[in-house]
Amino acid sequence: MCNFIAKQRKNSSNYIFNRVLIIYFMPINKEEQVRNEVVRGAKAIFSKGLVEAGEGNVSVRNGKKEDFFITPSFNQYETLKEDDIVHLNFEGVPLSAGKLPSTEAKMHIAIYKSRPKVQAIIHTHSPFATILSIVGKGIPVIMEEMYAFLGGSVEISKYGEAHTTEIGNVALNALGIKNAALLANHGVIVCGKSLDHSVKFAELVEKLAKMYWGALQIGKPNLIPEENLERFQKIFDSLFANYPRSMRKKK
Ligand SMILES: [Zn+2]
Repeated sequence: MCNFIAKQRKNSSNYIFNRVLIIYFMPINKEEQVRNEVVRGAKAIFSKGLVEAGEGNVSVRNGKKEDFFITPSFNQYETLKEDDIVHLNFEGVPLSAGKLPSTEAKMHIAIYKSRPKVQAIIHTHSPFATILSIVGKGIPVIMEEMYAFLGGSVEISKYGEAHTTEIGNVALNALGIKNAALLANHGVIVCGKSLDHSVKFAELVEKLAKMYWGALQIGKPNLIPEENLERFQKIFDSLFANYPRSMRKKK
């Protein structure tokens, strides 16, 4: 956990310097850069075994605009390339020719619309998390790192039919102000301030699900008491939280 947090701290202190560099060495093509990020994220979750071909999806918001780039329907991770990525606006209208977008694009749109700081969203069917989602179990706070990165427990959503706006709404409810949730009988949804955050969160949810599942096999898992979590709340708020201030009171 510490290395990743140290890297994020360094990243935020380098932010202004990097912005200056970006202004002087403006990327040749911003769109290509975002497409490349989506491909990078997709290949990362595939290589970590969090998705199989044809399932799950990755999207990255186009800066502060009301459009984003998402993996195509029935995504083939191994051969995925920048041209396969689909550009959509928040009405779900394609802004690029080529492949059809992921059928879960509506869920991504619902999250981008209500969480303006979210820059990247990942949906997986990672096995242990999906097992928990099938029996309707979320993941309580069993390790400190889930508080720092995800904002606390990972809640389980109500059932929402795949490919509908409804699943976007149930995902949002389960997320609350946090960065991860389980989708009932389906899988995982995570959102982050950057693609790297989202990849990390998707990986972490699967690891936690595996640990929780394993702990349940041999005993009653002990949960970490709330009072021990204050300093992790500070790490979450300063580095990984991405909810609007107006949502804070709902916590
Ligand atoms: Zn799915």
